[in-house]
Amino acid sequence: MTASIIDGKAIAAEIDARARHTAEALARISGRKPGLAVVLIGDDPASDVYVRNKGRRAEAAAMRSIEIRKPAATTEAEVIAIVQRLNADPSVDGILVQMPLPGHIDSGKVIAAIDPDKDVDGLTPVSAGRLLLGQSGLRPCTPAGCVILAERALGKLDGKSVVVVGRSILVGKPAALLFLEKNCTVTIAHSKTRDLPALCRTADILVAAVGRPNMIGGDWIRPGACVLDVGINRIPAPEKGEGGTRLVGDVDFDAAKDVAGSITPVPGGVGPMTIALLLRNTVQAMARREGVDIPV
Ligand code: NDP
Repeated sequence: MTASIIDGKAIAAEIDARARHTAEALARISGRKPGLAVVLIGDDPASDVYVRNKGRRAEAAAMRSIEIRKPAATTEAEVIAIVQRLNADPSVDGILVQMPLPGHIDSGKVIAAIDPDKDVDGLTPVSAGRLLLGQSGLRPCTPAGCVILAERALGKLDGKSVVVVGRSILVGKPAALLFLEKNCTVTIAHSKTRDLPALCRTADILVAAVGRPNMIGGDWIRPGACVLDVGINRIPAPEKGEGGTRLVGDVDFDAAKDVAGSITPVPGGVGPMTIALLLRNTVQAMARREGVDIPV
C-alpha cells in the first residue's frame, strides 16, 4: 500500500483564499481591513523569516500587516507595554508575539498580557481555558491545522482513536483537546510513555509533535492510519554539498508511506497550515470584535 499524500500547501491556500474573501467582506462592512500585528524582539534569522512570511501572507489575504521589530536588549516591561498599546488600538484585531523571546524576558508574562480576544495564536491562559472548557475562542493554529488535515483525509472524526506524541503547550496538549472536541478517543504520549511503538500502532490518527528527526518508524504505524507529522527538524544533507541541510519530520516518511493510509510530508504538510489558521483567526477576531455575524 502507498499512502495518499496530504497536500497541506494546497489546503492552506484554500483557507488563505477564504480568509481573504472574509477579510474583504469585513472591510466592506466596517470600512477597514483586519489588522494583524506581529512583534519580533531580537534578530533571530529563523524568526525573521517566519515574521516576513506571516506579513506577506496577511497582505495577500487583504489584511493590514503591522510589524513591530525591537532590538534583543528590549526589556520585559517594554515588550509588555507594546502588547498593551496593541490591545488598546482599535485597528488591531490580532496580536502575535514571535517566539522565542530573548532569555531575559518571561514569555509567559508577555503572552498573558495579550487581550484574549486578539490572541490569534491561541496561547493565552484565557484561550487555553476556553479550549479546555469547550467555550468558543481563538484556537492554537498548528493543532487546529492538524484537525482540518485529518478531516480532509478521513471525513468525520467521531470515534477515531488518536495518539498525540508530545504534550507541549504549543502543539501536543491543544491538539489532544481539539481532537477530543471532535469526539475522538485521545491518548497523549510523551517522553515517559511506556512502549510507545505499541501505543502508536493503536492509532487511527497519529500526530507526531516531538522534534526528533525520523523517530517514528513504519512499524509504529497501524496499516491505513492517518499520520500527521508536525515535527520540523533540520538535518545534515551531504548530498547537497558541504554544509548542506534538509528538513525532515518526526516520522520516517519513506517507511511510513508504505503502511499509512494518508500522511503529511515535511515540508508541505502541517507547516503551511499554521499561517493559514493564523489568518483565519484574525478574521474571526475582527468579526467578533465588530459584532459581525459572518462565516469564517
Ligand atoms: P517541545 O519540545 O515543546 O515538546 C516536545 C514533546 O515531545 C514533549 O512533550 C516531550 O515529552 C516529547 N518527547 C520528547 N522526546 C520524546 C520521546 N523520545 N518519546 C516520546 N515523546 C517525546 O516541542 P513542540 O511541541 O513545540 O514542537 C514539536 C515539533 O513540532 C518540533 O519539531 C517543532 O519544530 C515542530 N513545530 C512545528 C510547527 C509547524 O508545523 N508550524 C509549529 C510548532 C512546532 P516531555 O514533555 O515528557 O518532555
